[in-house]
Amino acid sequence: MRPAPKPAAVDCRPGFRGVIRASFGPDHVPAGCHTGELPHHDLRFDAADPNSLQDLRTALAHSRVGVRLVLAGPPADVHAAAAAAAECGLMDEEIILVREEVGTRTIYCGHCHTPTPTTQPPGAEVDCRGCGTTLSTTDHFSRRIGGYLGFSAYAEERP
Ligand SMILES: [Zn+2]
Repeated sequence: MRPAPKPAAVDCRPGFRGVIRASFGPDHVPAGCHTGELPHHDLRFDAADPNSLQDLRTALAHSRVGVRLVLAGPPADVHAAAAAAAECGLMDEEIILVREEVGTRTIYCGHCHTPTPTTQPPGAEVDCRGCGTTLSTTDHFSRRIGGYLGFSAYAEERP
């Protein structure tokens, strides 16, 4: 077993240009991504709580355009972190998600925008907690809202 990496202190030097890897969860899932020759900076958090998200924002704020962010961990944590990164101005293509395909995902209703947590796999149907519409879940993850978009499963059958 390798010695544990340095603690998750945010010590990115200003202008860091490389790969930031953030992993969430008690198991500290390694952010499985080959960074090649690029320098990388690892952040490890127990969960995507306000403190860890603030650390992530700080690291991103010190990074320059061109940084890549790899997020690994349970979907709910990864999604919260991706939304925080989007707030910091990262583009979709600058964020790589390494989700564990277990746990709760959040489906956002395309009609009333209410978030509905679900453990159903993509393709399953869930009832929106807000308006009761039966939503088809997709694997279309929106980093802007930090969740998956759901749309009415039967919209095309209506007159
Ligand atoms: Zn709804």
